[in-house]
Amino acid sequence: MGMRYNRKKGFIPIAQPNFGVEELIFVTDALKSGWVSSQGKYIDEFEKSFARFCGTRYAVSVANGTAALHLALLSLGIKPGDEVIVPTLTFIATVNAVKYVGAKPVFADSEKSNWCIDPQEIEKKITRRTRAIIIVHLYGHPADMDPILKIAHKYNLYVIEDAAEAHGAEYKGRKVGSIGGIGVFSFYGNKIITTGEGGMLVSNNKDIARKARLFKNHGMGHKKKYWHKVIGYNYRMTNLQAALGLAQLRKIKRSITRKREVAASYSHALSNIKGITLPKEAPWAKSVFWMYCILVEDNFGITKNALMQRLKTSAIETRPIFYPIHKMPPYRNKRRFPVAEALSQKGICLPSSVTLKKDDIERIVRVITRNYV
Ligand SMILES: *Cc1c(COP(=O)(O)O)cnc(C)c1O
Repeated sequence: MGMRYNRKKGFIPIAQPNFGVEELIFVTDALKSGWVSSQGKYIDEFEKSFARFCGTRYAVSVANGTAALHLALLSLGIKPGDEVIVPTLTFIATVNAVKYVGAKPVFADSEKSNWCIDPQEIEKKITRRTRAIIIVHLYGHPADMDPILKIAHKYNLYVIEDAAEAHGAEYKGRKVGSIGGIGVFSFYGNKIITTGEGGMLVSNNKDIARKARLFKNHGMGHKKKYWHKVIGYNYRMTNLQAALGLAQLRKIKRSITRKREVAASYSHALSNIKGITLPKEAPWAKSVFWMYCILVEDNFGITKNALMQRLKTSAIETRPIFYPIHKMPPYRNKRRFPVAEALSQKGICLPSSVTLKKDDIERIVRVITRNYV
């Protein structure tokens, strides 16, 4: 039983959370307990359950996904003078976090098949100063981890997985976030599960988990209260958020199944449309299709922008695929990244909520294929 949200009749949003009775019960319970800040039983339970879900030993809850990325870099001791290889096709937080620790982000191009960072491009970008690689499981599809881990091993680099869009996605049967050494998740309102704002850092490394806890809580160790060992941050999650998160985590399997069903419905309905390229799932991948995105090719008949406008007129919300970070003012860079640039030029994300009805998808497909029927 889902909640109903106030929205204009017939409007289909790009994303919408899915809350039910369990969320109400847990959040109410947290409220009644009086533990509304960053202590309380839901914090512990959510962390433990999330670690179990990812198959990692440790999980550290935080205020948002960006904070988790920042803590990952801090815990590894990444500092000014260091270089960190990142995909240019990602959400900007991946790259901003590198700047927060004073290090230099070095961009790499994407793979045409799965849109994630291209392992071959990573190797070209390695210098004496390279310390780490942040890979992003973009739009819910895992990056090709084996060649990336091989390169990391060869050059002695850390691997951080930005899994903010890919909770529960699998690479060769392993959950993303548990593969590279540190995994980072977001629980923003449009992600696979949400706590409103929130994030998690996962790892099998005790020292990394300990450092992340230290930095997220003003640099205060858990033994001697109000004794601050380092300059830390307030990156804590609240017990209220954790209550919401635990309820969401309880149904994540169903949410992922539904995401994959939505994707399968789109792929089936759009498979023979000239000029539309569909997202592919690699044979080694289980994507969670956080967002279902298509590429509008030149021979489609109308431009990508015209298609987005047409959908908007029909009360269907879409968004473009991310702009490559090297194109935007803070990171402007004249180098070319042809795959990322082409994906960004052609790509749009379609409504992808687990709450979408069969009728909604049919209506969206009808509007897209209007030229053909
Ligand atoms: C959402 C997202 C983040 C940031 O998460 P917040 O919780 O919004 O701070 C980081 N990386 C990627 C790839 C994301 O999609």
